[in-house]
Amino acid sequence: MREPFTLIKDRYLLIDSWTKKDSNLVAGFTTKNGGVSQKEYQTLNIGFHVDDRLVDVQANRRLLAEDLSFSLNCWVGAEQTHETYIQRIGRSDAGRGAIEYESSFKRTDGFYTSEKNILLTLCYADCVPLLFYAPKQGFIGATHAGWKGTVGEIAGKMIKAWQGEGISANEIFVVIGPSICSNCYMVDDKVIHRVQKLLEEYDEKPYNLISEGQYQLDLKHLNAIILEKSGVPKHQIDISTYCTSCHDDLFYSHRRDKGRTGRLMSFIGWKEE
Ligand SMILES: [Zn+2]
Repeated sequence: MREPFTLIKDRYLLIDSWTKKDSNLVAGFTTKNGGVSQKEYQTLNIGFHVDDRLVDVQANRRLLAEDLSFSLNCWVGAEQTHETYIQRIGRSDAGRGAIEYESSFKRTDGFYTSEKNILLTLCYADCVPLLFYAPKQGFIGATHAGWKGTVGEIAGKMIKAWQGEGISANEIFVVIGPSICSNCYMVDDKVIHRVQKLLEEYDEKPYNLISEGQYQLDLKHLNAIILEKSGVPKHQIDISTYCTSCHDDLFYSHRRDKGRTGRLMSFIGWKEE
């Protein structure tokens, strides 16, 4: 499979096929490099909630805003809770959660908008970033899916929300971003039972039994199956081969770094022409 992300600068990767087709679209994922944070957060930590110094997180965000030519006044961010609430963003929301945690959207793990000059941002360290794009109708969106959000079918909820806006599933393109690979992600029976329930009528099994009660789970593949179940054509779903845990040189990983680490960011927005 072709890798949808290309490293543009040390700080970020862009989704090639989308941003080449539409030069006003900015869509991609950050790395852990090129920032100012210290210790376990070195260097480009984007997360406000991980005990890093606030001034360093703000400085990192400013560096990215400059790189992307997307002012912080236009960013929106969330207090993510591994649930499945999705917020539609309007023009007046611009700037919420951009330079401090307090103003961000509470209890939110997904955003979408049809407005220009809004950068939808969400934070990750191993969880799955999903970026959504309906070029014809001018809609963009993003979700954050760890195992809870994934089995809660946040990916399918975004498709339903867009169907409610008059967009059919076969007009939606999705990119599944850098996140933990199945070799690096072991889960127990509790998680696998939820996955099995979800895939009852499905042949594809995105997990392997390794030992008694221990499974490798492919969260990216599971999200792709959920999207297909929701009607998104398979050839419109691209999956990144980057693993946040394997690629120590590029990414933070919650599992690899034993919980003390920084946060990466997915971003998608249109610049006004
Ligand atoms: Zn891996």
